[in-house]
Amino acid sequence: MCGFFAVSSAKDNIIDDLFLGTFYLQHRGQQYCGLSTFSGDSIKIRTHRGLVRETFTNDLGGMNGQAGIGHTALKARQPIKLDSKMGEFTICFEGNIVNLAELTDELKKQGHSFYTDTDIEVVAKLVAQGDDFVAGIEFMAGKIRGAYSLVILSKGKIYAARDKHGFRPMVIGKKDGSVAITSESCSFVNLGYSIVRDVKPGEIIEVKDGEFETKKIIHSDLIQYCTFEWVYTANVASTIDGMSVDMARRNIGGCLARRYPVKVDIIGAVPNSGIGHAIGYAQESKIPFDNVFIKYDYASRSYTQPTQAERDREAKVKLIPIPAKIAGRSVVICDDSIVRGTQMKNDLVVKLRKNGVKAIHVRVACPPLKAPCMYGVATRSKKELAANEKTIEQIREYIGVDGLAYATLEDLEKSIGKPLDQLCLSCWTDVYRV
Ligand code: SF4
Repeated sequence: MCGFFAVSSAKDNIIDDLFLGTFYLQHRGQQYCGLSTFSGDSIKIRTHRGLVRETFTNDLGGMNGQAGIGHTALKARQPIKLDSKMGEFTICFEGNIVNLAELTDELKKQGHSFYTDTDIEVVAKLVAQGDDFVAGIEFMAGKIRGAYSLVILSKGKIYAARDKHGFRPMVIGKKDGSVAITSESCSFVNLGYSIVRDVKPGEIIEVKDGEFETKKIIHSDLIQYCTFEWVYTANVASTIDGMSVDMARRNIGGCLARRYPVKVDIIGAVPNSGIGHAIGYAQESKIPFDNVFIKYDYASRSYTQPTQAERDREAKVKLIPIPAKIAGRSVVICDDSIVRGTQMKNDLVVKLRKNGVKAIHVRVACPPLKAPCMYGVATRSKKELAANEKTIEQIREYIGVDGLAYATLEDLEKSIGKPLDQLCLSCWTDVYRV
């Protein structure tokens, strides 16, 4: 997973907005971050291992400019910089190129050499083959299979493009004299940007001096918005393709309450991503929502740690049960998804039982996960997914709870407000349409 933020201003230095806009995408990747700015006639680029605020707060010197792009990542440093016939440019992207090996071989046969084995290097080298950036992006889009949203900075202009299926989110915002384009609108809120609209699937945009213009739309009959963004990945303050993440999660919780009612004392959540679902469940069932666990502020997001061992360790550390809420009470616990079920079994259920819970009913905000993501979200391999080996009843027994039920695909369709045909469902169907 990654996040990017791009900003252009007609008059102001953008460095503060670039820094904070990128910082507000930290939940999309915590291993690497990078910023690039344009000023005078030169591009500056700086990348770090670590978090945006930790690594850049004292390292913004000389990064001023009226246009810039920033990136947070789980796997590789971005932006990267290339010199090309169009001049120097920096580029960052979010997504995954399914035919990466094939394209790398093809480029090697044409005489290209590679510094890394990352998607972004292939994307950049394909874009660099165009006579201009719009033609280069179009050329790249014709070659790759997969998902991407990308931004390019060159000579004070920004080019932004979203793949023709619309997998990864991308939204445009505006405030006096400035335009920003980002993975998620949560990065606009505190910076004072208003959402103008989402970048359309297949759209290529040029941004200059605080204005934007559509240069091209690459058409596809197949739209595939990433459903998991609304279920888990995105920040609740974001609105993606016109649907508030918070509202979608509450709707899913409401569906779960109607589909699987149960008499309990309180509705709780696995924080943070289960909270919206739990509030929706509580509102629909008229049973009070309460904090059963709190997430310790200084723990990181377990799902995006690079190794399983680190994920497991973080998962155990991050949640603290609130004993006074649990003893002698029956609870519904809402979670965004169940991967292996081991965290639920070895951590959450143990903590609840130790604190005297009367009964535990788990409600999951999506159907059983069956397959890994090929489009840029860090999910698990098939063999790590509990639902590939066990029935729902066997998973319930394995994790040791009194009840377990999952939202259906129809619940997701209804809650997100988009037709199933336009939602990527590969996580649950194991069918890859791109
Ligand atoms: S496979 Fe899952 S995580 Fe990946 S794009 Fe599709 S819905 Fe999103």
